[in-house]
Amino acid sequence: MPKNTFLTKKSKGWGRTSSLSPLLAFGRKFGIYLPIIIVLALALAAGGSLRSQELSLREVLFALSERPASGNLHIVEMDAASIAAIGQWPWPRKEHARIVDQLAQAGVRSVVFDVDFSAASNPTDDAVFAASLEAAEGRVALPTFAQRASHNSAQLIDSLPLETFREHVGLASVLVAPGKDGVVRSMPFATMTAGVPRPTLSAFIAGEAGIANASFPIDFSVDPASIPRHSFIAIAGGEFEAADLRGKDVLIGATAIEMGDRYVVPRYGVVPGVVVQAMAAETLALGVPQELGAFLPLVMVALMSLLALRAQSVGRAVFGGFAQIGIIFVLAWGLWTGSHWLIDIASSLIAIVVLTAYRIIGLQRSERLHKVRHDAATGLPNLHAFRFDHSEAKQGLTVAARIDGYDSLASVLGRKNASFAVNALADRIRAMGAGERVYIADDRMLVWTMKSESFEIEAKLVKLSNALRKPVEINGRDVDIELTFGVADAGNETDAAFAASQARREGSLWRRHAESERVAVEEQMSLMSELETGLEKGEIEVFYQPKLHLGQSRISSAEALVRWNHPERGMIRPDRFIPMAERSDRIADLTLFVLNAVVADLTLWRARGIELRAALNISARLLNSLEFLQQAEELVKAAEIPASQLIFEITESAAIHDAQQALLVVKRYRDLGISISIDDYGTGQSTLSYLQTLPVNELKIDRSFVQNAHKQGGDALLVRSTVTLAHELGLEVVAEGVEEEACLAFLKDIGCDYAQGYLIGKPMPAADLEALMKEPARLAA
Ligand code: C2E
Ligand code: CA
Ligand code: CA
Repeated sequence: MPKNTFLTKKSKGWGRTSSLSPLLAFGRKFGIYLPIIIVLALALAAGGSLRSQELSLREVLFALSERPASGNLHIVEMDAASIAAIGQWPWPRKEHARIVDQLAQAGVRSVVFDVDFSAASNPTDDAVFAASLEAAEGRVALPTFAQRASHNSAQLIDSLPLETFREHVGLASVLVAPGKDGVVRSMPFATMTAGVPRPTLSAFIAGEAGIANASFPIDFSVDPASIPRHSFIAIAGGEFEAADLRGKDVLIGATAIEMGDRYVVPRYGVVPGVVVQAMAAETLALGVPQELGAFLPLVMVALMSLLALRAQSVGRAVFGGFAQIGIIFVLAWGLWTGSHWLIDIASSLIAIVVLTAYRIIGLQRSERLHKVRHDAATGLPNLHAFRFDHSEAKQGLTVAARIDGYDSLASVLGRKNASFAVNALADRIRAMGAGERVYIADDRMLVWTMKSESFEIEAKLVKLSNALRKPVEINGRDVDIELTFGVADAGNETDAAFAASQARREGSLWRRHAESERVAVEEQMSLMSELETGLEKGEIEVFYQPKLHLGQSRISSAEALVRWNHPERGMIRPDRFIPMAERSDRIADLTLFVLNAVVADLTLWRARGIELRAALNISARLLNSLEFLQQAEELVKAAEIPASQLIFEITESAAIHDAQQALLVVKRYRDLGISISIDDYGTGQSTLSYLQTLPVNELKIDRSFVQNAHKQGGDALLVRSTVTLAHELGLEVVAEGVEEEACLAFLKDIGCDYAQGYLIGKPMPAADLEALMKEPARLAA
């Protein structure tokens, strides 16, 4: 993140709680239960409308639990072979008598006919059949049919077997009731016809005395092909092993296509009615299936979701969803195969899918948020995260740590390793318990909030800084990291970062942000934009401060000092805007403006007979500007005054940094005839002998030494020795900041060449200086 963006005022809206917050807070607190409650409620409500899905799922369940038939029930088929063999239709009842006799002899448990015996045939055959039924001793059951009295009637009548047959047999209803879609899935236990309850065939065989009109689901996990079958004609002819049928139940019915008694069932398509009856009987042989509904699996889903909704990755959430679906199927399968219990699972599966989708969407959202709130290079939480976490922060102090020399770190280690180093640093800060979460503000700045009172922060930072000074190991090499800290009120990361930058500039370990500073900075920024127009509008003026020639007791020169007469802010002192002008590259224009004004004033004064030299302050960075040199050169050459009337004051440090270039430029000014003065002498580290190698004419001893030179031994010594040495090197000496008579006397005494200061005269407009020059009497003192 570029620094500028970082320093601009943060938008307060980001991550702040909105009017939705109570709702969101509720959601956050109960979020994990809320969807479960909603989904389960919906699933329960939707249970009824999921019937067809439920039935499809049940087919899957049946397929999963497929098993062979018990073998206790045999079907005797009235099949194509039998029809061919008997050769007439309807079959003579003596054929039925034959088969009953054969089966009774074989010792079957029961014989149940799915054949209509309600009409009389020829009396001899009917009598033979009745005799066989009697001989079977109640083991035979014949069907009854409930049918409408007529097409338009709602009344059902019972069509029963002939009276003569009825005496010796049981009666069973053969009603088959397909669903609305024409598919047979369940079987009634009994039917109520003409007020009499009759068990259905299967219930009769299983001995289940059910309630009329209640049904049970047929178990289609039984493979109908595994039900033992025999051809009618074979049994009637005695061509079978009696042992195979001993103790078994036998169901006799039509399977030949031309008999038309066929139904659609799940899994197996179209099957003969007798097979449907057989499967229903097989179902009851294992006990009556119980339908438990949707409640149990839904509760199970709710419990599982408490876990599943905590999944921390999309992959896990998907896996969790599949696992739950699997568990629900296993549950359904286990209950069915183990206990003959059926559950409705469609609503549960929907609930799982919805809850899983809910979790995935939630995860993706938080993944996106995570990306937005973390720095890509280091993975540390970024300023978005900081602002989100600190939207209501009031406690503690926000600390910014600036990594000094980050750029050289990055260029030596590479960006990636530099990120490692930053991460390691963040780890240490956390490990020391300084901050719970450490955020990255920009490449070189970490921010966190410290539980600390203002009075103890310094001690804490010193401790932290000492601990962090231990080198970080990157790629087997130790890297030293120095930090500068900035401190601000909790949540004010911008201020903390600003304070850290300030501290760095000052060379101190840390700094507490003060509100007034930001105001000052903002003011400076707007000032700079106004400087340009200020120059054009003539708001900038040059004042002169006289320099007294101590030997001659006259004003021989003056220092040009710039003033900004701001329309709103009044007179602005150069200290406030010169450094800014330097930083924002406006110093060349400003200095050319001053040079122009000085040349103009000197020209005017010369014409008026006033001999005066003028000193200008030249910023260090201008000594590296060839462009400025050229422009200044042109200006001076075009002037009507000799260049020797001009003095350029440069600071000591400026003359030393980037010496090569500066030296060349200074030489050019000298060649032009301009004198060079070293300003603020004594504040830098250079020795006099070194300065002598530069083309310099004059030294200006800094006012901090001058002001007390007459009363402080140390300062006196420095000023005195400087004057002596300078003279030996052929330089003239100016003492600036002279405010007291005693000081002036001291300077005269030690042979200093010039004195400048409020005592002689404050910086003043050109006109005032001119007036001063004309009345030398005032200077006699
Ligand atoms: P400087 O070159 O050291 O200028 C001397 C400063 O000391 C002036 O402040 C002056 O008013 C002040 N001064 C003079 N005599 C006394 C005294 O007896 N006692 C005290 N306490 N102060 C005294 P000013 O005018 O505010 O200028 C401040 C600084 O601004 C100057 O320091 C100079 O570095 C810079 N400056 C001023 N004008 C220009 C300019 O045109 N160009 C550049 N580059 N810098 C300038
Ligand atoms: Ca100066
Ligand atoms: Ca000075």
